[in-house]
Amino acid sequence: MMGDRQVMQEGLFYEFSIDRHVPEDHLLRVIDRFVDLEDIRLQLKPYYSGMGRPSIDPELMIRMLIAGYCFGIRSERRLCEEVNLNLAYRWFCKLSLTDPVPDHSTFSKNRHGRFRDSDLFRKVFEQVLARCIAEGAVGGEAFAIDASTIKADANRQQGGPGADGLPPDVMHRRAVQEYIATLDEAAFGGATDAVPKFLSPVDPAARWTRTRNDGSAKYSYSVNYLIDCKNAVIMDVEGTAAIRTAEVYATRVMLDRVAARDSIKPERLSGDTAYGSAEMLNWLVNERGIEPHIPVFDKSTRTDGLYERSDFTYDPERDRYICPAGKELVQYRVAGRRAKAKPPKDGRYKYRSRKTDCDVCQLKPNCCPNLPQRRVQRSVHEAARDVARQIAASDAYLISRCERKKVEMLFAHLKRILKLDRLRLRGPNGAKDEFLLAATAQNLRKLAKLHIQGALPAAA
Ligand code: SF4
Repeated sequence: MMGDRQVMQEGLFYEFSIDRHVPEDHLLRVIDRFVDLEDIRLQLKPYYSGMGRPSIDPELMIRMLIAGYCFGIRSERRLCEEVNLNLAYRWFCKLSLTDPVPDHSTFSKNRHGRFRDSDLFRKVFEQVLARCIAEGAVGGEAFAIDASTIKADANRQQGGPGADGLPPDVMHRRAVQEYIATLDEAAFGGATDAVPKFLSPVDPAARWTRTRNDGSAKYSYSVNYLIDCKNAVIMDVEGTAAIRTAEVYATRVMLDRVAARDSIKPERLSGDTAYGSAEMLNWLVNERGIEPHIPVFDKSTRTDGLYERSDFTYDPERDRYICPAGKELVQYRVAGRRAKAKPPKDGRYKYRSRKTDCDVCQLKPNCCPNLPQRRVQRSVHEAARDVARQIAASDAYLISRCERKKVEMLFAHLKRILKLDRLRLRGPNGAKDEFLLAATAQNLRKLAKLHIQGALPAAA
């Protein structure tokens, strides 16, 4: 006779230890070594009232968010369910088997209220980064910079032309209020004078941008990472509008913040052509003393077969160019004119050849066939651009170019493993919060990986 399974699930007493049931090599066990949230309660104290019902422990909520971002769970509702059911998550959050898990609505209230007001997520990121530095995971010599677009939580079918502005019935929304507050910020509305092509009524700070992946335009933000090349530890993170000027601005902010906060100034910075503008190179070379391992953003190349600017040799001592025919191109021919000259408004010095030289020159058809004389422009920051060109021809640059790929790998990890290819929160502050939490999770995972490999110098 086939018997029934006699299992009673309601036992009278259980002896159960969560600690024994979480595997020794579980990622959260290793991550837990590097999470220290002792100071969080002190920093949040001014944001809690001294009266009323006790709140849910903020450390618990931070631990839940860290666990969620480490495993690509960004939905607050799903995170609460997972923490309720998953023993490893319970262990990491210091919950017993019977402790209640906070409601998902509590998360939203705290995230958009106290946590944001106190800049808590940046503090958590900085604490984890300080641990990375203390463990010897940061080299501090070579940094790399890059940005990647992340889709905003805004329907691409909705929205109107930027010139029309926003409809009055959306002005009360939090994301719209944040957009208005950041209109003058260089990282968002102030990044460019141009009117956005389209404005989303639910998240107007998100820019209508063509993504590199599928080429279609979507509302997006940019996540900017400044990493240390030794172990690809994220040194700083910034959320900006998806515009190149905003991304370059974020680089300056992040480098200065790392220097002020951690007293670390890299010897070299690698990046792609987006960071190779004359102003940026000048800032790096002359104002911060950092080697730019960055390709120069140069529009002087010609496709019509005529001589390019690189065909003219600059003589720095006499401040003039020498053309392929050996003639001089100068700025001023009248004595005393140089002393009276003001800096050029467009940031470019103009050098001209003599018309009499060009009239009889046999190379004129290849140089300036339709003009009486040749003109060559030189940026006021050309010296810094020349430094970048010299570096680009060195062997060290080849290494930097490979190291730069580490940032791209972090973005690929961010989108594929941590599933942050689309934001859940709206507005500039929502984007910043998500980027900070994701960067914190990536640094913690990096620390855990290095610890498992025995590659942390401090531990050795
Ligand atoms: S055309 Fe004038 S600038 Fe050009 S190569 Fe001849 S002399 Fe030099």
